[in-house]
Amino acid sequence: MTAASDGQLAAIVSWWDTHRREVPWRATRDVYAIWVAEVMSVQTTLSRAVTAWETWMARWPTVEALAAASLSEVLAQWQGLGYPRRARDLHHGARIVSETGWPEPLTRLPGVGPYVAAAVACFAREEPVLPRDVNVNRVLARRFPDGVDIAADPWRSGQALMEFGQRVCRARPACGDCPAPTGCGGPAADVHHPPRRRQAPYPGSFRERRGTVLAGVLAAGRLPRAGTDPEAAASLARDGLIRIEGAWLLSPD
Ligand code: SF4
Repeated sequence: MTAASDGQLAAIVSWWDTHRREVPWRATRDVYAIWVAEVMSVQTTLSRAVTAWETWMARWPTVEALAAASLSEVLAQWQGLGYPRRARDLHHGARIVSETGWPEPLTRLPGVGPYVAAAVACFAREEPVLPRDVNVNRVLARRFPDGVDIAADPWRSGQALMEFGQRVCRARPACGDCPAPTGCGGPAADVHHPPRRRQAPYPGSFRERRGTVLAGVLAAGRLPRAGTDPEAAASLARDGLIRIEGAWLLSPD
């Protein structure tokens, strides 16, 4: 890390100050709120995550409130966001936290990997821990191959690097709009960070089949096994999202 890299980071942070997209969770430093926002934002469009987060936080404003909810309520609220194991893990994690407090490291909570733990550290606790998603990794490979020091202003630096990677230093970068082009290695520097694989289309997928069965069980409380997609039902039961008892598929609690 050099004075030059500090200058490039300052230019990116300055760009972000002017161009940042407003999202509601930037107004809080609450660990629970940031945790929910980060889990929701994975593989979900920003606009959908914003709406879902606001509704969620209005319904369950604290980790204790979420812990007191039933898993069925949580899964029903999660509908439309996809990958319902994320909701299951949030709910399970909330119960752990409400009973024993926040663990250290946060990766001890179900479903919390290094990225989400770093995002909570940086965006809630303002610690100098850079969350490294695919966008940030790309920026580091191209612009900061020797590393970057965010200790002077972790929260703004982390937000700035992430949004800069999403909007300017994309897989196909908009170098003409770059606030920090001097000495950049450019796209050739990130051969080890290929663009993210596209998600398989939802229509016709096994995810859709699971989603159909789960929505039916949550809406009715139970469905007869006969005539219901058995593979999808078995998969949901393995994930703890429904129960199979005798001739019935049941909501999880
Ligand atoms: S010059 Fe292009 S590749 Fe380099 S940091 Fe800027 S946008 Fe990314």
